[in-house]
Amino acid sequence: MTTAILITAVSFLALALGVCLLYFRRRLQVGDARQTIMAADFAAADYRLRLLESAVRQIGDGVIILAEGGDFALINEGAKTLLGLDDNDISGQDFDEVATGFSEKLEKKSIIEAAQEGRSGETVTVDGRYYRLGFASLRDEDGAARGAVCVISDVTESMKAESMQTDFVSNVSHELKTPLTTIKSYAETLLKADSADEVMTREFLEIIDSEADRMDLLVRELLSMTRIDSGAIGWKMVESDLPALVRSAMKKLDLEAKKKALIVNRMFAKELICPVEMDRGSIERVILNVLSNAIKYTDEKGRIDVDIIQNENCVQIVISDNGIGIPEKDLPRVFERFFRVDKARSRQMGGNGLGLAISKQIVDAHGGEIEIESKYGKGTKVIVTLPIPGRRGKRGIL
Ligand code: ADP
Repeated sequence: MTTAILITAVSFLALALGVCLLYFRRRLQVGDARQTIMAADFAAADYRLRLLESAVRQIGDGVIILAEGGDFALINEGAKTLLGLDDNDISGQDFDEVATGFSEKLEKKSIIEAAQEGRSGETVTVDGRYYRLGFASLRDEDGAARGAVCVISDVTESMKAESMQTDFVSNVSHELKTPLTTIKSYAETLLKADSADEVMTREFLEIIDSEADRMDLLVRELLSMTRIDSGAIGWKMVESDLPALVRSAMKKLDLEAKKKALIVNRMFAKELICPVEMDRGSIERVILNVLSNAIKYTDEKGRIDVDIIQNENCVQIVISDNGIGIPEKDLPRVFERFFRVDKARSRQMGGNGLGLAISKQIVDAHGGEIEIESKYGKGTKVIVTLPIPGRRGKRGIL
């Protein structure tokens, strides 16, 4: 009996110990696992934090993170560049001291205020460039403000593109509206007038016809500009003799020049041969544009020189005139779409301010360059440079 009780007691104790052991073992295992999980969580969180920090540092935009109270928490490379800082400038310094001079919107107080109010998308101008400032407040789990983030993006190029687009649309509308108004008013007059007056009818119809041509030219030029812009144009690059092309363009405009008794001099030798890889039709268009400008903007009995200069890796077409010239302040703008020094004069000559812009597009697409030099009241020189890629050495040692 005693033995049985003893066995039962031992069994019970063994069972209890076993249960305890199992229990503690499991606890120990869970503890280990928890520790392991916690360590893994820390490592993952640390990894994610470092990843985020490095992403913020690499971002092109400027990022400034201010901790509670306005101390520096992080300033990335983009912000340092914008504020003109290097590492030495900021270590242990007050933010307001280092960020001076950029914009008052970037003072500690302003950033924190803007972030708390959730202001975003403010634009500031600094040294002629535009920056958009975005603010966000950093809050803890209970929603209490713990700091602020400011993102500074340089939006100069997109602002410029936006304003160019708006200008472009308004220019196109204006350019189309002018001939359209003329056409409408002459057509209305004709409808009301005595159709027996043949002279007047013919005169009015000629005006309508020429204004329709102007609109047609404008639309065609706009379409071709858009096609070049979008890369939809298929350049037919073939090796062609440039001097022959220049001579043929001169011939095409001979009558125009003669009408104004202009002297057009071919300065290059008649037998000059210079093969250039080009889209023949487009380069001819450039030569015609530049030469017709020289004719348009040179007074009667003036002089135009057309030259071709061969260099090691390029060839230059140089067209000079002793015409009205371009004021110095307007020179940088002559390649802009629709820019004209004297709108009325250009319009009277049938110009729309697109000739040089298209010429530049074409020359750029050929890897070349178009430059203009001018003295107001004295004359203008346009230089078109085209590359001669992979030019071979001279043959004929033997
Ligand atoms: P447009 O159709 O008005 O001639 P362009 O784009 O060809 O347009 O030229 C832009 C402007 O540049 C002209 O309106 C004119 O004011 C100026 N320009 C171009 N070439 C000459 C030149 N040879 N002499 C004087 N002004 C010129």
